[in-house]
Amino acid sequence: KPTKRPKPESRPKPEEKPTNPDRIDDKWRPPPSISEPGSAPETYVIGRKLGKGGFAVCFEGKSKTTAEVFALKVVKAKVEQKKMMEKFRTELQIHAKMHHPNIVEFLRAFTIDEHTYVVLQLCPNGSLTEMVKVRACLSLPEVRRYMIQICGGVKYMHKRSVIHRDLKMGNIFLDAQMNIKIGDFGLAAVMADEHDRRTTLCGTPNYIAPEILSKSSTRGHDNKVDTWAIGVICYAMLMGTPPFQSKTQQEIYSKLRTLEYEWKIDSKNYIPRQAKDFVAACLNLNSAERPEMDELVEHEFFTMGAIADALEIICLKSRPTWL
Ligand code: ADP
Repeated sequence: KPTKRPKPESRPKPEEKPTNPDRIDDKWRPPPSISEPGSAPETYVIGRKLGKGGFAVCFEGKSKTTAEVFALKVVKAKVEQKKMMEKFRTELQIHAKMHHPNIVEFLRAFTIDEHTYVVLQLCPNGSLTEMVKVRACLSLPEVRRYMIQICGGVKYMHKRSVIHRDLKMGNIFLDAQMNIKIGDFGLAAVMADEHDRRTTLCGTPNYIAPEILSKSSTRGHDNKVDTWAIGVICYAMLMGTPPFQSKTQQEIYSKLRTLEYEWKIDSKNYIPRQAKDFVAACLNLNSAERPEMDELVEHEFFTMGAIADALEIICLKSRPTWL
């Protein structure tokens, strides 16, 4: 009879990541309603949990005066890691200055009982990640609509010298009318001038631009890291998965360094040359050769075929039937 070995309860499993002390506990909920401090306080009635991120949790919050529903992003007011605090402060400063139809509107931020609440425009239809997971490949008129809106929002940021640096499907939300709203400015940076290049390693493996990886580069990187990410997002919407998708981060990096991606031919999913050209223009290993946003919004991919004008919520789950 095999002897039962006692479970090593005290030892953490190897796959367990160390818990982030600055992250809000999964079970935590704000009080049923919270009132903003100040002379004209607004009270928000807390509703359902919208999701959680690296260190924030998001809840619905309904204004008691206007009945309008917002997204309340909650973070710990005092975080142990100084870097996190700075990251959050920069996020708020940059986000507060962004006003564009395709960027999540920042309304206000306040602190109560050791938590900072950020009031954001609500995006009730989730992020592109969820939609692409369910739908896999989107139709061309949908991709054109989403891409032109993403490019419009990013063009606005770049004109104001803001680089998002973390554009990915999980940070791009859909509002009630299925319009794109770019959110999460957690990694955004303001370029001091056009020649300022940031040198920190940032981004998410699948969307990271090659120049961010090349440690030997002393040139740093500029707003073209967003153009690269736009190429990744466009490919993912057309094909259902990001171009360099692999099991490990190392494999992703080695594939993107050599531009190893392909367009799988499928009778059900036709990809026109112009769409491939659009992606290839963004996924150029030489960042200087990637188009500026002004040029990208004029790309023939947007003029060669229909752009979806209005989309129903059902498109989150199923392919629209175009006439
Ligand atoms: P973090 O900065 O910690 O990564 P996020 O900004 O990604 O946090 O927010 C966490 C989650 O909250 C998101 O993945 C999303 O599900 C939800 N969320 C964030 N902003 C909104 C919003 N404006 N409307 C609806 N849901 C949102």
